[in-house]
Amino acid sequence: MRTWVEVNLKAIQSNAAAIKAHTGRGLISVVKADAYGHGAVPVTKVLHPIADMFAVATGTEGVELRQAGVRKPILILFSPLPDCAEVLVAHELTPAIDNWHVAKRLNEIAAGGSSLAQQLATGRVKVHVDVNTGMNRSGVRYTEAGQFLNRLKTLQQLEIEGIFTHLATADEADKSYAYLQLRRFSSVLASVPNVPGGNVPITHAANSAAALAIPESHFGAVRPGLSLYGIYPSVEKPIQLQPTLTWKARVGWIDCIAPGEGVSYGLTYKASHQTRVAGLQVGYGDGYPRALSGTGEVVIGGARRPIAGRLCMDVTVVRLEPSDTVAVGDEAVLIGKQGDAEISIDEIAHRVGTIPYEILTQIGKRVKRVYTPT
Ligand SMILES: *Cc1c(COP(=O)(O)O)cnc(C)c1O
Repeated sequence: MRTWVEVNLKAIQSNAAAIKAHTGRGLISVVKADAYGHGAVPVTKVLHPIADMFAVATGTEGVELRQAGVRKPILILFSPLPDCAEVLVAHELTPAIDNWHVAKRLNEIAAGGSSLAQQLATGRVKVHVDVNTGMNRSGVRYTEAGQFLNRLKTLQQLEIEGIFTHLATADEADKSYAYLQLRRFSSVLASVPNVPGGNVPITHAANSAAALAIPESHFGAVRPGLSLYGIYPSVEKPIQLQPTLTWKARVGWIDCIAPGEGVSYGLTYKASHQTRVAGLQVGYGDGYPRALSGTGEVVIGGARRPIAGRLCMDVTVVRLEPSDTVAVGDEAVLIGKQGDAEISIDEIAHRVGTIPYEILTQIGKRVKRVYTPT
């Protein structure tokens, strides 16, 4: 292998356990976007004993988990388009809903007497109602949510299993807007009359940032993603999270360049003296951010060494020191630890002006995920 990611499943398990212990509530493990680049199927399997539910963003992601044999409830975090509803019912996925059209469509599918409906153990489709309390990207507006919930009760085949909202600023130091959203959410919940003989819906609002730092957001369950993968969403660190991923690439080429010679496209790095350089077999075609050109560092031979010139699609050149004993075939670490040196996802995200979420989800298909057993 030229480049690969080592995923520490035990660390993911331990992070989930730490979050569950910290909140003491139900755990909806968010494994969307291929478990933030870690691999949705292996991550879901290792979390199966501790998670009460899983959450993904799309029906396709849910189907992948069902086909891998995941039996626990799977929440689809975004309301489906009406023409995409059937596949959700067929695989017993639990959609978020935020509009009447999709609610009616789901009800029709379940009531239709089709083979799909007969597959449902209860004959009913479970849904979670998404309430927009101020994030303004999805959900039924909080001022209309009570009415919507009442109207849903006329759809006999739907079971309101959950009611949730999503916070826009839980990771910021100033939590006042998050508290405003939580007050709006609580007022919606207070207005929901009890369903006679029905189950009390599961209520949830907390992403990682809120699960870690806003106890008032915990409700019946929390919905963390990023923190499962060992990354703190904000400066608050009330629990110990372990890093879960190491990204490695191997040295494919080494040479010595003369003073004045340049490196890579545009020759933007010019050697001031005779310099040993190494080509790592990884590039932006693997999701390694091109913006690290001339500014990023990797760990090689147990020490940090700078990237020289522009990253290419398949190769990244680094500058070695004369004392470095590095050979073709050696491993370099792009993210993670080697010896005493470490490069964090936070550091890379900060260097290229983005967030850890984007770094993780951009790690490409060419990068094999290797799992350390639990
Ligand atoms: C992605 C997502 C989460 C998880 O957020 P993190 O910040 O990764 O913990 C929770 N809820 C919803 C609705 C999401 O879209």
